[in-house]
Amino acid sequence: MNAFFTEKLESWYASHRRELPWRDTADAYRIWISEIILQQTRVAQGHDYYVRFVERFPDVVTLAEASEDEVLLLWQGLGYYSRARNLHKAAQMVCREYGGRLPGTFAELRRLPGVGDYTAAAIASFAYGEATAVLDGNVYRVLSRYLGIDTPIDTTKGQREFRMLADEMLDRRQPALYNQAIMDFGALVCMPHALCEECPLCESCQAFREGRVENLPVKSRTTQVKPLHLIYIYARAQGHLLLRRRGRQDIWKGLYEPLTQMPPGTEESLPSPVLLREGVKHQLTHRSIQADFYLWELPSRESLPSAWLQEEGYRWVREEERDDLATSRLVQELYKMVNKGPEYLGD
Ligand code: SF4
Repeated sequence: MNAFFTEKLESWYASHRRELPWRDTADAYRIWISEIILQQTRVAQGHDYYVRFVERFPDVVTLAEASEDEVLLLWQGLGYYSRARNLHKAAQMVCREYGGRLPGTFAELRRLPGVGDYTAAAIASFAYGEATAVLDGNVYRVLSRYLGIDTPIDTTKGQREFRMLADEMLDRRQPALYNQAIMDFGALVCMPHALCEECPLCESCQAFREGRVENLPVKSRTTQVKPLHLIYIYARAQGHLLLRRRGRQDIWKGLYEPLTQMPPGTEESLPSPVLLREGVKHQLTHRSIQADFYLWELPSRESLPSAWLQEEGYRWVREEERDDLATSRLVQELYKMVNKGPEYLGD
């Protein structure tokens, strides 16, 4: 069965592979960057980020020597910012422990911050030809359907079972080619809504034969999405804006954000903030956010209590330097509204 699967898959890949800028390289650094970008990002969106990232940071050393702020700024808009922070930390570790060259085995790669089984297998096989199978969402889908397996993929038992199967199915003579082929096949043919009528594997596909394609793979849990209400106040005085860098254990850790509440004792003495928009929606994997945006024009920077600002980590930043500091997509929305000014308030 393996030989048939491998042969069909690889010959499909020979004529249908996606042409991607990180495909024809054996440079472990570039493969690593592309895999991290693609973890939670579609190829179309990730492409430009990848090109910009490797242009600015062409190797591990340049990345390690950059500031975290700069790395985050280049990542701005991609989301899941822990990926960027981990890339930066891992680059520093590679410089310290491996002389600036990414290590060459799955086991060593796995030690780097932000590098899980999937990424380590991708780098080890694509760059170094190690016979290790990748196992990502695409591979789970293809294998569960082709082999007709309904063990939930988000359980320890399921993960163990699929790991074994992925290793068994791997073409050990050419692991890089096989891994890329199965991932592209999952992304282009055996998609969530599979194109079975175009599939070269359908005659031997278990799920297809049994009419279970739409039911596989099985997951035991659905993601819990919690609502979250946020307030952002664009506080402006003398061409400056109040910003702070978000602290440690945060979804947007390391990114900048404006005031999120009124400083104590200011409600009476100062003009009120103007509501720009209420209930701006923003969806994250585990959060469904509704945000209210305000613009607060202040007579001077001294109008706000400096001790409180300091304690909360806020500082005044010149407005023209604002875009040099990385922020979330939501804060970018606020900036856009403020830029448009009163015109925006009307719609
Ligand atoms: S026949 Fe359909 S379900 Fe089976 S491998 Fe092909 S695309 Fe996937």
